[in-house]
Amino acid sequence: MTHRIGVYPGTFDPVTLGHLDIVRRGAHLVDKLVIGVTTNPSKEPMFTIAERLAMVKREVADIPGDIAVVEFDSLLMDFAEREGAALILRGLRAVADFEYEYQMAGMNQQLNDRIETVFLMADVSLQPIASRLVKEIARYGGAIDKFVPPAVVEDVAKHLKTRR
Ligand code: ADP
Repeated sequence: MTHRIGVYPGTFDPVTLGHLDIVRRGAHLVDKLVIGVTTNPSKEPMFTIAERLAMVKREVADIPGDIAVVEFDSLLMDFAEREGAALILRGLRAVADFEYEYQMAGMNQQLNDRIETVFLMADVSLQPIASRLVKEIARYGGAIDKFVPPAVVEDVAKHLKTRR
């Protein structure tokens, strides 16, 4: 029997309800879902890799299925290969995501054609949620509780407080 492993990579800075919806749905499609949290220093994340790992682990703890949360700092395809993944899972929100994702999936296929990229359409109600906008709204004092889990609202508030 094959044990199908999927990798769901991202920056998760911070993890949102949109991400968690993809994790929940993705976990049904594979025997094991490995959430890859990229260090991604080029994006200058709000939260450190250790904070993002802890945040994602905490938020997926109650989601049914075999779910692991792992840090990675390498080419996605090398990470996926190391994890023994058959597929890479990505969420698709809008046309804007499509172009970037299409290009990345194409290049990743050239790097390693044994691993397929699979896209899940964002849930309609969660479609507008983006980590970048969550941070922007919070920085200007707006409410983010419709976009991220309660504990993440706290994490962001704490982060902004210590920076002032
Ligand atoms: P990256 O830096 O890899 O884009 P993100 O953390 O921004 O990392 O996103 C990780 C994945 O989650 C991407 O495939 C992205 O399209 C998807 N995603 C982000 N927000 C949502 C959302 N609201 N609904 C569905 N998928 C989403």
